[in-house]
Amino acid sequence: MQSLGHFGKFGGIFVSELLMPALEELEAGYLKYRQDPNFKKELKKLLTDYAGRPTPLYFAQNLSKQLGAKIYLKREDLLHGGAHKTNNTLGQGLLAKMMGKKELLAETGAGQHGFATAMIGALLGLKVKIFMGSKDVERQHVNVLRMQMCGAEVIPINFGSQTLKDALNEALRYWVANSQNTAYVLGTVAGPHPYPSMVRDFQKIIGIEAKRQLKKSKNQLPTHVVACVGGGSNAMGIFWPFIPLKKIKLIGVEPAGEGLNTEKHGATLTKGSPGCLHGSLSYVLQDKDGQIKEAHSISAGLDYPGVGPEHAFLKESNRADYVSVTDKEALEAMQNLAKIEGIIPALESAHALAYLPKLIKNLGPKTKKEACILVNISGRGDKDMEYVSRFLTFENPTI
Ligand SMILES: *Cc1c(COP(=O)(O)O)cnc(C)c1O
Repeated sequence: MQSLGHFGKFGGIFVSELLMPALEELEAGYLKYRQDPNFKKELKKLLTDYAGRPTPLYFAQNLSKQLGAKIYLKREDLLHGGAHKTNNTLGQGLLAKMMGKKELLAETGAGQHGFATAMIGALLGLKVKIFMGSKDVERQHVNVLRMQMCGAEVIPINFGSQTLKDALNEALRYWVANSQNTAYVLGTVAGPHPYPSMVRDFQKIIGIEAKRQLKKSKNQLPTHVVACVGGGSNAMGIFWPFIPLKKIKLIGVEPAGEGLNTEKHGATLTKGSPGCLHGSLSYVLQDKDGQIKEAHSISAGLDYPGVGPEHAFLKESNRADYVSVTDKEALEAMQNLAKIEGIIPALESAHALAYLPKLIKNLGPKTKKEACILVNISGRGDKDMEYVSRFLTFENPTI
């Protein structure tokens, strides 16, 4: 962990004094337990036996043929819970338990992080409270049921925008008052220190495994690593072991926020600028007066106006490139992978796939032949079926 959670000029802690004691306790707990053999052993066991690690690395033969370069998919969609989020909630949940906490607290927008937290609370015998805007409670009814099924209490927030922003503020207020017994489980590599470093540490297993798997089967390193970026946790996880290897290109793909829904923008790193959001300095979508703009993406999981500070650092130091694709391109990529590989990726993950044709088209003939592109399939698309069905046309519709 970098000292005080700074990544170049980004990161840090920009929060009310009231939150400092809870953050300091969390940092101390994390620094202690991440070295603790018991914690490491227990986490490894649960990641293996409960969550199903290692996830496969699959050589996508049909997609590779279609696009004209070798493509490997890291299958986080096969992780228990259906996405990479389980790596993080398992880590933070176990840490909370070892620190003597009795309750997990989280806010959720689309409900995926709420469900991943509820799952782990049930597993570890911790109470779970999920704060959720009442509009989201309505929109994400199935996810609310899944959380309740695991015994979590879902608390609808009925004021303000009735979405993630107010749920987050309310959850923080609750944490300030109850931090003695309650751990706040943050869903991505954003927020104040220690969250960006801690969440990245729980997600870096994705990249470590992929590197080992590729080495073992092909005795090779990837030439490109591609992942979608919402808050940035699945991308940080798969990038991590490759950051020191400067020849390997790291590419984060954001939603352009154009296409099916116009006027709003979702590409924080490609269109945003440095600013403060949710407790740290990073890139944010803001207008010229510093007001945070609303993000938009067809995939709720990428619909966040900020991004983790380590990505801001990787961008400014030119270590990683950030690009964007439209809603329409993501939908097409989702459908394409389903059709030629029989894998339905999450809409979020489809953003990473949607960039591949452009990436490969711009490679010279020799580079193309040598290319070995590693793509993170951060989650499975079952959750998106109902929503995307209104945009799709099928070859063989039901009669
Ligand atoms: C939540 C989610 C994301 C976005 O979060 P990151 O922190 O950017 O990884 C991406 N893919 C899936 C499947 C998700 O559930």
